[in-house]
Amino acid sequence: MTVVVTGAAGFIGRQVVHALAARGHAVTGVDRRPWTPDAGERVLCCDLLDPAADRVLARADAVVHLAGLPGVRDAGRDVAVRRHRDNVVAGQRVLSLTPKDVRVVVASSSSVYGGAGSPSAPRACRESDPPRPLGGYARSKARLEERCRRRADVGGRVTILRPFTVAGEGQRPDMALARWIAAGRAGTSATVIGSLDRRRDVTDVRDVARAAVAVLERDVDGTVNVGTGRTVTLRALLTAVEHALGRHIPVEVVPAATEEPATTCADTTRCGALLGFVPTTDLHAVVGRQLAASRPTLARTA
Ligand code: NAD
Repeated sequence: MTVVVTGAAGFIGRQVVHALAARGHAVTGVDRRPWTPDAGERVLCCDLLDPAADRVLARADAVVHLAGLPGVRDAGRDVAVRRHRDNVVAGQRVLSLTPKDVRVVVASSSSVYGGAGSPSAPRACRESDPPRPLGGYARSKARLEERCRRRADVGGRVTILRPFTVAGEGQRPDMALARWIAAGRAGTSATVIGSLDRRRDVTDVRDVARAAVAVLERDVDGTVNVGTGRTVTLRALLTAVEHALGRHIPVEVVPAATEEPATTCADTTRCGALLGFVPTTDLHAVVGRQLAASRPTLARTA
């Protein structure tokens, strides 16, 4: 089938494009940021609010909607406006322009849960749990999910994915592992938000891509967590970076904002039953891949 991937230039978008192509699907990537496409990938470089996007969405066999403003900690005077525009308005536009009988797979976020208990007693979050979005980013994703449910209510095909902290090659530079790798390379300290005891369900980006392909091919409706069901401490994450770089990284702990949950953890029952697999993360392998992909180009010497 011909699948339109929005946010195709992004961290998760690149892996979803690779995974779809590997399964023999034709891909049209849409993003407002220019990127180097894969062989055979069709490119539409425009904002989703631009009418140029209308036609590709109207003609798709399926859509994976990843475009959005993804940073929990994004700040600035106009951040609420930009989040609403990119996460809610653009998402609504994708849902409206895609015919009802064409599946739209929408990237929401584990942040809609508002955390999973405490680091000493993590409680895996189920898709049926009431949303408890804590900050502006999580609220924008909860609003996007409402729009998805409205599509489903009128018979539209839609799947909501809730990925948990995604890691691997191409990770966004604002995310913890990418920041710590950069700090380790630069010989500066790693900024840790809250405490090294906080826990995250870390998901390999390749498994997120596999999940997006699986919901399309298996025609899965509703909401699906994309996480491992296991948590690791930020200390373990930092140790994996130190191990990969072969050097100690000093730490500076800064206070966590209220929208930063102490723990995240996915209940994977639905994912396993509907997608036929549960993500597993080999932390050292994922960090190693991320490090290799972000290796600075060495100046060529004569
Ligand atoms: P990313 O920033 O790397 O990719 C998002 C892409 O969307 C960017 O290339 C950006 O240019 C594009 N984009 C944004 N608004 C657009 C618009 N209006 N028109 C056209 N292009 C637009 O982010 P990512 O980490 O790959 O995340 C992808 C999606 O997954 C996001 O919706 C994010 O909220 C969600 N998500 C990410 C994570 C994670 O850990 N990375 C976790 C949960 C959910």
